[in-house]
Amino acid sequence: MERRLHAAGLRTRRQPFGYPRTDFVRDTVEQIRPQRREVTHFPGHGLAASPDGGHIGELVVPRDPFGDAADSWEGIDARAKVALLQLRPNTLRGARQERRTGCHTGGGPLGHQRIAEDQTAMARRALVHARAAGVSAVLFYLDQFDFLIGLFFEAPGDTGLPPAAVVHSSAATALRQDMDAGGATVRVDLELQERQVDTFNVLTVPPDITAPRHLFGAHLDSVPAGPGIDDNASGSALLLDLALSPIARAGRPAQFCWWGGEEDGMRGSRHFVATEPLEPVRGYFNTDMVAAPNYVISVYGDGPQRHYTDHLAAIGRPWLEGPVDGMSDQVPFLDAGIPVAGIDTVNSAPARLKDDHEAAVFGGVAGQPFDPQYHAPGDTLTDISSTALGICTTASHAALRATTR
Ligand SMILES: [Zn+2]
Repeated sequence: MERRLHAAGLRTRRQPFGYPRTDFVRDTVEQIRPQRREVTHFPGHGLAASPDGGHIGELVVPRDPFGDAADSWEGIDARAKVALLQLRPNTLRGARQERRTGCHTGGGPLGHQRIAEDQTAMARRALVHARAAGVSAVLFYLDQFDFLIGLFFEAPGDTGLPPAAVVHSSAATALRQDMDAGGATVRVDLELQERQVDTFNVLTVPPDITAPRHLFGAHLDSVPAGPGIDDNASGSALLLDLALSPIARAGRPAQFCWWGGEEDGMRGSRHFVATEPLEPVRGYFNTDMVAAPNYVISVYGDGPQRHYTDHLAAIGRPWLEGPVDGMSDQVPFLDAGIPVAGIDTVNSAPARLKDDHEAAVFGGVAGQPFDPQYHAPGDTLTDISSTALGICTTASHAALRATTR
């Protein structure tokens, strides 16, 4: 890609950056007695790892449901057992709610809402008491809530605390019923590792870096699960096509940015926004997933998206409106107050099922995801729509023309 750009006379530079990434080395919570079942869970970050093969233990509860008092475990033999603990509701007003990060739907460790800081402090206290009581692992739940919330502790300070995970309230209820009826045994096998990732953005270098310009960007990374052709070789290729086009150099300058680390939380675009002078940046155009096999054409933005929609209207193509703060590289620019726009083929929700109306307007299959191979090994060259890629590409050229005129 850089060779192609250089051959066309464009200058590029790599902008290096790094960040810590949490990888799931081992991640299992299952009940094994009196019945075997998987327990949906979210592992706590920054805590100890389970021993090799996991820890098998009897389920145990403290005297109070929370286990965060000095006498919570008094008179209870909890040694080598797995504690089931209720998280206290958040008591801080205006609890900080982390925006979901990562591409589109989350799903990894970053895809969950963090618990509030006071809850983290209470959970830490509960873990300290559990460790003192000899507990080997902890399952937390939030009463009445069947969603998974993120437990983020501070490594290395908290790595002496027992491994823990958050489970659904309904799963906790079922476990508790089995325990009360004669005992329940669970296996907990958790290990999260933080690894340093060193990567880079690829940026074209405009002739005058201080001149006002629009940015066009796409993320170059993909998830480890698959080759990432729709997500996001498609957007990266579209961007290359734009950068190599004669219009890109005929009028006012544009800058083209291939981001690294998007799937880990828009790391590359965040790094750019945090470190580069933004005064000359008049707007940012994002392309992420522009070739979904069961596509719709979707446009989002807080103003500049008219450059896409003017073109689509002129050629009589339908489009949907997408959320401007969907999870991709426009978000750091949006947060920095820069006008943003983007085009995609999944309405910022690749796993969403196409509805009847969308199938009537765009074709494809109702009741199926826009991209059934999203973040999967099947996201290959044989499973993309070149029609959708063509529509997004011509609309992007129209936006480039409009902004460099
Ligand atoms: Zn993506």
